[in-house]
Amino acid sequence: MSFLFSTRSKTFRPKKNIPEGTHQYDLMKHAERTLGSGNLRQAVALPEGEELNEWVAVNTVDFFNQINMLYGTITEFCTADKCPVMSAGPKYEYHWADGQTVKKPIKCSAPRYIDFLMSWVQDQVDDEALFPSKIGVPFPKNFLTIAKTILKRLFRVYAHIYHQHFQEVVGLKEEAHLNTSFKHFIFFVQEFNLIDRKELAPLQELIERLLGK
Ligand code: ZN
Repeated sequence: MSFLFSTRSKTFRPKKNIPEGTHQYDLMKHAERTLGSGNLRQAVALPEGEELNEWVAVNTVDFFNQINMLYGTITEFCTADKCPVMSAGPKYEYHWADGQTVKKPIKCSAPRYIDFLMSWVQDQVDDEALFPSKIGVPFPKNFLTIAKTILKRLFRVYAHIYHQHFQEVVGLKEEAHLNTSFKHFIFFVQEFNLIDRKELAPLQELIERLLGK
């Protein structure tokens, strides 16, 4: 998305680029234009004639890039000393397992957890068998299940930032940017029912406020 970032922000890993001239690039541009209209319900809706998997893929990559950027602005505050466990407030703690290479959950610091998480997401979105970028190459049958797992995990980074680092985000004057990104994310996952309600519990109050309930 065409957000402006402060010079302090740094990407903490290379982001995935959707190449210009591809259909997915056009879809991403469509998303940017409709977002600019300010009507989020409309902005997240599946554009007419488009394939759901491709729309979810383009947006998932975009959220990954946004979260990468947002977390990149606060990495200096998110240290093993300050965040010895990956948490989202006092009631929620996460231990890392990807279910594939790491089956036994690892209890680790938030920066280590987020590093595991973002590296894992990067591997998924870079895998052409899961996220095909070439025209005519079909998405795998279980694509939505894969996308749901990615989005469920990405949500935890927002939850950690909001619960543990919001004051620092405010100090960097990034809170409007964080809220815009998160609100877009929530509208998107709700439109297509991509994250279970119980997974969203750590930010339930914020979600209700952002949705104006
Ligand atoms: Zn932290």
